[in-house]
Amino acid sequence: MHFTGTIWRPPYESGSLLLEVTAGCTHHRCKFCTLYDGLPFPFRMSPLEDIEADLQEAQLYQTGPLERLSLRMQGLDAPQGPRRAFLVGANPFVLKAERLGRIAELVRTYFPQSGSIGCFARITDIALKTDQELVRLAQAGYDGITIGVETGDGDALAFMDKGYAPEDILIQTRRLDEAGIGYHFFYLAGIAGAGRGRESAARSAEVFNQTHPRRIGSSMLTVFPESRLYQEILAGNWTEAGEREKLEEVRTLVEKLDIPVIFAALGASNAVNMEGRLPEARNVLISLLNGVISRYSESDLRRYREQLPHL
Ligand code: SF4
Repeated sequence: MHFTGTIWRPPYESGSLLLEVTAGCTHHRCKFCTLYDGLPFPFRMSPLEDIEADLQEAQLYQTGPLERLSLRMQGLDAPQGPRRAFLVGANPFVLKAERLGRIAELVRTYFPQSGSIGCFARITDIALKTDQELVRLAQAGYDGITIGVETGDGDALAFMDKGYAPEDILIQTRRLDEAGIGYHFFYLAGIAGAGRGRESAARSAEVFNQTHPRRIGSSMLTVFPESRLYQEILAGNWTEAGEREKLEEVRTLVEKLDIPVIFAALGASNAVNMEGRLPEARNVLISLLNGVISRYSESDLRRYREQLPHL
C-alpha cells in the first residue's frame, strides 16, 4: 500500500479501508497544526494508478484465496471485505468532483459491497463544489465526512488562520444537508487561548446548534514547539489556556449543545476519554467532567499534556 508519513484517521473509521488519495494539506497554514510537517511537500495528489494498485492489493489481502481458505478452515463465512472506505490525507474532499467520482468508481470495482466513503474535509473544500456536484458525490457514496471546524468562535478562527469564518460553517454544512452528505465535526478545546475558553464554547454551540453533525469529536490543543503558534506565544501575542480551563470549556460546550448528536472526547489529546449521545447523556458527561476538574490539579493535568509526543 502507498502510505506517506503518519496516517491520521478519526477513531470511528477504525474498521474502514484506508486508501491514500492525497498526502498533506492544501491549506497548511493553521497556526497550531504540525500534523503534516514531516512530509517533504505541503500537499500531493496520488496518481490514479497508485490508488488502483492499492485497491488490488487490499482486495487480495482482504478477500483473496488465502483469506478465504483461512476463514473456511475456521468454519467462518467467506470474507466480505470492508463496508466503508476512508480516503487518507488532511483534506481529500478538495479534489475535483470528477476525480472523487472516479475514485468512488474504483472503490466499487474492487469492493462492490462497500457502501460509503468518508474522508477529512475543510469547509473551504465544500465551497469549491457546485450543488449538483455535491449531489453527485452523495450518489457516488460520499457520506460521513469529517470536518475539523475546531470552533465557531470567529476571533479564534481568524487568529489561527483557519481560512473561514463561522458563517461559512453554516453556509457549507447547509449545502451538505441539502445534498444528502452526512458530516461529523472536530472541536478543538483551547483554540481561543487563556481566559476565552467558555466564550469560545458558547459561540461554537450557537453555530453548531444550527447544523446537523452526526458526531462532535472534541480534542484538546497541545502546543508543539515546531508550530507557528509557539512563535506567537514567544512573541507575547497569545497565551495558552490552562488544562482545567480547557475542561471547563468542554463542559460549557456539552451544556449548551441542544441538537441531537453523539459527543465524544477520544484520543490522546484528552486526558480523560468520554462518549455519549446528547441530550440523553448530558448529565453523565457533565458529572464526569466535574469529577475530573475537582479531582486533578492543574499540574497533574499539565504533566499529562507535556508527555504527549504527538496528538
Ligand atoms: S486544515 Fe487541518 S491539516 Fe491543514 S493546516 Fe489546518 S489543521 Fe492542519
